[in-house]
Formats: sequence, C-alpha cells, structure tokens
Amino acid sequence: MHDSVIDAGLIAAVHLHLTSQTGPDDGLTDAVVQVGLMADLLDGTYGGTVELGTVLRHGDLGIGTVDGLDGELVIVDGVAYVVRSNGTVEAVAPTVRTPFAVVTPFRPSTWFSVRNGDRPAFLAAVEEHRGIAPIVALRAHGSVASVALRSVERQFPPYRPLTDVVAEQHAWVATSVVGTFVGFSFPDELSGVEVGGYHLHFLSDDRMTGGHVMEFEGADLEVSMAHDHDLGVVTPSLTTLRSALSADRSAIAEVEGR
Ligand SMILES: [Zn+2]
Repeated sequence: MHDSVIDAGLIAAVHLHLTSQTGPDDGLTDAVVQVGLMADLLDGTYGGTVELGTVLRHGDLGIGTVDGLDGELVIVDGVAYVVRSNGTVEAVAPTVRTPFAVVTPFRPSTWFSVRNGDRPAFLAAVEEHRGIAPIVALRAHGSVASVALRSVERQFPPYRPLTDVVAEQHAWVATSVVGTFVGFSFPDELSGVEVGGYHLHFLSDDRMTGGHVMEFEGADLEVSMAHDHDLGVVTPSLTTLRSALSADRSAIAEVEGR
C-alpha cells in the first residue's frame, strides 16, 4: 500500500505518502522517510517495528530512537549510533528495530557557516537559508564550546507515556567538543506525525558523546542543508495517521522540541 493520503495544501505543501510496511519493494522513494508516528511515541509505543538495516536503505543521515526507547539514535554517513542514557555511544546492529526514526539520503543544496553561534543564532541562520521548503534536513559539523545533551533510559512494558519518561531524562553538558549536529525541521501542521519545528541530535567525532540537543553555545559550524517536500511515512494505517495529526502539540514540543 502506497498512497497519497492527505491533500498537500492541508499540510503546508508536504507531499505525504503512507505505507504499512517497508522493505526492498516498498516503493518508498521520498526525499525523507519516517518510521512510526510521534503521537504513538508520545503514548508510549516504544516497541521497535522496522530494522535499522531497512531504515538505512532509505538514507544515510537521520535521527530517532531504538527499541524500548533505549537511547537517542543518530545516523551519520550511513552508520547508526545510539547514545545511551549514561551518555555512552554505541554503533548499533542493523537488526535492531526502531519504533521512530526519520532518515534521508542527504543531498544538500545550501551551505553556510556559523561563527560562535548558540542554538537560537544557528536556527536563525537556517531560517534565513531555508526559503519556502516545508522540510529541511541539516548537517552541521564543527567545534562547540558547550552543548547541553540528553538521553532517556531503556523502558520495559507496560510502557509509560513519553512525558513521564522524559521527566526522568539524563542530561549533561559536553564542553570543547568537535562533532556533527543532525536534524530536521517539519511544519507545525505535521506535529503528531513528526516533531513540528526543529529537532537536533549530536554525535562527537570521537564517538564519546552525543544525544538529543537542548542548547548549545560557542559553535563554529559548517552547515549543509537540504530542502525537501516529500515525506514517506511507515505506519500501520491511515486512521492512525489521521489521529496523529490531532496529537497534543504542546506535549510534543515539551518532550522533543528542544
Ligand atoms: Zn531527539
């Protein structure tokens, strides 16, 4: 099943496609491919559904989480890493499943630099360069004076809602670190399917730290950016996709928006 499901005008010019399963013949050729729905993650659906090996067939740059919410997923140069709740980084096997991930075959068309920037300055520079693209994929590499990161602890059924888990998140600050920020921006209208607005993860070059990015400052970054409008979503049904669009956006912003 691979249908255009929602009028493009309803979702800020994003061309949204739906498929109930993914694999070699899934027909997903979209610029950005997503497994799972943010609304389901919010409700505590943490069981992995799609193997990372399959996710990596759809792109080499991405973010998300893994089975059981066992850390923050960062995909850089086609390799999937997970930052555990204690801050350690591990490459993950392609057989590990994910309940939520977004990935793209990164083909940037815009490049710029940020000097001594913090998160707001970085995002303002991205906004300046994004044009009218409803979806932006970002890769920014360089040195950072300090970056506030977080990850979450592995969960076991019965799963609790994400707001409860994130309330117990492990947060730390990495200083004088060189690494890569990976992120996406989706329209607010897609909140529930995705995280509306910006969502950034980080991975240090020495693979010693990383995680979901909350704040940073003193960053000298070379930024590359892709502008997209096609999103393929792997989700069980159209009904769940529609209900996802009515998810609690303020709760999503609270747990993932920064
Ligand atoms: Zn995140």
